[in-house]
Amino acid sequence: MKKMFGVIGDPIAHSMSPAMHNDLFALYDIDASYLPFRVLKDDLEDAVKGLKALGASGFNVTIPHKTKIMPLLDKIDPLAEAIGAVNTVKNENGLFTGYNTDGPGFVKGLEGHAADFKERSALIIGAGGAARAIYFSMAKAGVKRIDIFNRTLEKAEELVATCPYQVQSRILDRANAERLLGEYQLIIQTTSIGMVPEVDISPLSLGNLSSQALVSDIIYNPLKTKILKDAALNEAATQNGIDMFVYQGAIAFEKWTGIFPDTQRMKANVLRHLGGFSC
Ligand code: NAP
Repeated sequence: MKKMFGVIGDPIAHSMSPAMHNDLFALYDIDASYLPFRVLKDDLEDAVKGLKALGASGFNVTIPHKTKIMPLLDKIDPLAEAIGAVNTVKNENGLFTGYNTDGPGFVKGLEGHAADFKERSALIIGAGGAARAIYFSMAKAGVKRIDIFNRTLEKAEELVATCPYQVQSRILDRANAERLLGEYQLIIQTTSIGMVPEVDISPLSLGNLSSQALVSDIIYNPLKTKILKDAALNEAATQNGIDMFVYQGAIAFEKWTGIFPDTQRMKANVLRHLGGFSC
């Protein structure tokens, strides 16, 4: 029988996940279909029950359900539990298990741009849901220093205080982050600043940036945010958010099928949908 997969969220119409996963099912000759489901906040519990009753093999979870879905699942993977968000669910013998592949996806994508990332001193800009997944996953992977700059300092403090993995961290305001910028070989931009339509703003001035640094922005629309353009002007290496998106999908696909898919193909597929080219 054809297997059913999907993504639940609101809004969901512009999700690139169905095209990405359906292409992989065809590539690997797997009889399965991946569908987008718009699920309103108040309908989440019914939707999860419905997916179980229909025998869904797995699904992704996106805004606004990543945290609210957790008590509705049968099991939660320890990393997802610590992060407090689930973006991937797998049906394991009738039981729904929740995973977080956003953070591990970011780390996997990072390996391709900075193989020595564990040895690098890192600064994360932002302390929202994505920052949390990235910070916890990098700490789990063994990065020794990860400082955080966020507009709301209390949120950064909460993030650091709740991390179960060993890592050294300082919480910085904007002035200190800009002053100390030269210390970091890895800068990860996780706020929504620089997204379409406000493409001409950056959360930080890069005057003190080291040319040896990698600046990674998890935004992929636009592919080159203001901070990435500024980093390139300083001759630093750059990475956009396509890798995180592709690798979170690749890790989910592997959990569902046992196959780690062709990420170059996935990347090309996503870029085609965005109508641009990666930096
Ligand atoms: P979130 O939980 O709402 O967090 C938003 C973050 O941005 C917070 O740190 C917030 O600071 C900061 N922020 C927002 N507006 C700001 C402003 N005007 N000035 C200063 N700081 C501001 O959102 P999220 O889920 O973490 O997502 C953040 C971004 O990551 C989005 O652009 C999203 O598209 C992208 N993302 C990409 C991927 C991928 O696969 N590439 C995956 C997930 C998310 P405060 O704490 O001070 O409010």
